[in-house]
Amino acid sequence: MITTVDSIRRNPARHRILTGDRPTGPLHLGHYFGTLQNRVELQRLGVDLFLVVADYQVLTDRDLADNLAEHAENLVLDYLAAGVDPDRATVFAHSAVPALNQLLVPFLSLVSVAELGRNPTVKDEIAHSGRATVSGLMFTYPVHQAADILFCKADLVPVGQDQLPHLETTRTVARRFNERYGAPVFPEPDALLSAAPLLLGTDGGKMSKSRGNAVPLGASEDETARLLRAATTDADRRITYDPEHRPGVAGLLQLAALCLDRTPEAVAEEVGDSGAAQLKKLVTEAVNEYFRPHRARRAELAADRGFLREVLRVGNERANAVAATTLAEVREVMGTV
Ligand code: ATP
Ligand code: MG
Repeated sequence: MITTVDSIRRNPARHRILTGDRPTGPLHLGHYFGTLQNRVELQRLGVDLFLVVADYQVLTDRDLADNLAEHAENLVLDYLAAGVDPDRATVFAHSAVPALNQLLVPFLSLVSVAELGRNPTVKDEIAHSGRATVSGLMFTYPVHQAADILFCKADLVPVGQDQLPHLETTRTVARRFNERYGAPVFPEPDALLSAAPLLLGTDGGKMSKSRGNAVPLGASEDETARLLRAATTDADRRITYDPEHRPGVAGLLQLAALCLDRTPEAVAEEVGDSGAAQLKKLVTEAVNEYFRPHRARRAELAADRGFLREVLRVGNERANAVAATTLAEVREVMGTV
């Protein structure tokens, strides 16, 4: 099921959220509007927040995970700059929580190879990976993600649209586990979609860290201008919002709309016949204005790398305690010795 922030307001303390990111590079505007904003708002409401730095998941589409420690610290930086409260959130790397990873073994037994092969997000990622061979991890990482979510018994997962098939896998794993072992160990978590579940990048495809089409949250104003100037558009001077036929233009309109709190159609109307260059100028100003306070906070926090590492260390400790409790319960209902 897909739920909304409004439906959670009534009883926020009842909920636990797990969400996270791969440490593959700096977070971008798609993350902010797609999930980060929601995470912060939910935490402010009083929901318990778990944030996973999905470092093993980096290996789905590459042989080596480069600069993991640096990327992980930068994720913490982006979270805190966006308003995540480090005293109340648990930020952890899943590779540092052995009991969480152990859940993967029984979980894998609950899904079929055919089901794993049908996942549309995995298919899309294989297509973009540009690799001749596809590793077993690429097919099974949605089940690993189920372990990320279920080890802390999260009932809500704020995600972008690409994650919906994965969440379905988690729900299936939870349901089948409970049925197979006759005990209500795991909740079936709901997805929480934001108002911008799929922000397009400067090439008109999903904005992604590793597709070279993103505007990082921490980019300078000049860098933002340069990245947006290079966005793929077309020669039609009349600006219209048509995501299917003009994805590059649509991505820019979406961005401006989010920053200006208007609809993409209204922004298109305003630009009218002035062409793509004018649209890019408008978007650049809107993005730079909107993210000025965020970027200032980020620069301040970036000065203390030791603090960022400490947030992760404490989070790993907390996550290990939670995972040990869940694994003990799993082993008990499975009757392992
Ligand atoms: P990578 O290219 O390394 O896969 P990514 O940009 O796709 O990076 P992830 O770490 O895979 O980012 O995704 C983290 C979270 O951000 C997920 O919940 C995902 O749905 C959300 N997200 C990522 N990109 C977008 C986007 N363009 N629009 C909305 N949400 C997004
Ligand atoms: Mg991704």
